[in-house]
Order: sequence, then structure tokens, then C-alpha cells
Amino acid sequence: MTDVNQQTAYDNNNIFAKMLDGDIPYYKVYEDDKTLAFMDIMPQAEGHVLVIPKQKAVDLTDLEPEYAAAVLMTSKKVMQAQRQVFEREGVIQMQLNGSQAGQTVFHYHVHLIPSSIHELGRHAVTQADNNDLADIAQKLAAVIDA
Ligand code: 5GP
Repeated sequence: MTDVNQQTAYDNNNIFAKMLDGDIPYYKVYEDDKTLAFMDIMPQAEGHVLVIPKQKAVDLTDLEPEYAAAVLMTSKKVMQAQRQVFEREGVIQMQLNGSQAGQTVFHYHVHLIPSSIHELGRHAVTQADNNDLADIAQKLAAVIDA
């Protein structure tokens, strides 16, 4: 029988851990003492942002309350910025737990995607242009800072 509580162990070399360590570049949208928000390099729609806690959590089961709250508050800031920059109300908040659900990076993260569920692109398939990602990150960051 499948153990539903069995999950991947936290890997200090996962791609988001390396970003937090400063070993891998990313297009930053927002950062505070408990969270980091950056552009998804394979967006499911233009403006797709990921929000991660500065805690070694694989998925929702590991997330400590203070980091859960911080991720939610950062997500709110990012979503409000997406609404302004893309002049649209609709933003999808998505979060995958476990490979069976499609999770591919095992450091907890929230996806914020300015899209309708009916128009959502494929998950982690098509790499975006770096200049476009940099431009959008800068626009979102400017709105959050304002
Ligand atoms: P998951 O499948 O774990 O819910 O989502 C992982 C997300 O990370 C995917 O949307 C994927 O496009 C994104 N991703 C994978 N590798 C990188 C990377 O090196 N940099 C950035 N910024 N995003 C990545």
C-alpha cells in the first residue's frame, strides 16, 4: 500500500535552494526576510511568478506557520502588482504537493499566474526570453515598491 505521508527529503541542492544561496541567477520581483518572489523561467502565461519561503520546506506539510503567513502576504503583494501591470483581474494561485501532483522542484512554492484556468499554458515546458522576464520583473517590482 502507498504510504501517503511518504515524501521527498529536502535536497539542499535543489534549484530554489541554490537561488536562496545566491548560486543561481533569477529575475527578482520582491524579497523580505522570510520570502523571495521571482519570475518562472518556463511561464504558463506572461507574468508567471513564484513565491518561496526562506525555509527548507519540501511542501505544505513542512511549512512553518510564520513562513506560511509570510508567503501568503508576499503572494498578495505580487498578485496586486500583476493586476496593475497586466491590467487584468484574473490571477491563478497554484501550489503542487508531491511528484504525483506534478511538483518538479522540491522546495515549497506558490505559483501566481495572470491567466484564466481555461487558457493556462503547459507546466514547465517553454522557456521564456530572458529580456522579457527581466522587463516584467522590473515592472512588477516597481509597482510593489511604489
Ligand atoms: P512545480 O512543478 O514544482 O510546481 O514548479 C516548479 C516551477 O519552477 C516550474 O513552473 C518551472 O518552470 C520553474 N523552474 C524550473 N527551473 C527553474 C529555474 O531554474 N529558474 C526559475 N526561475 N524557474 C524554474
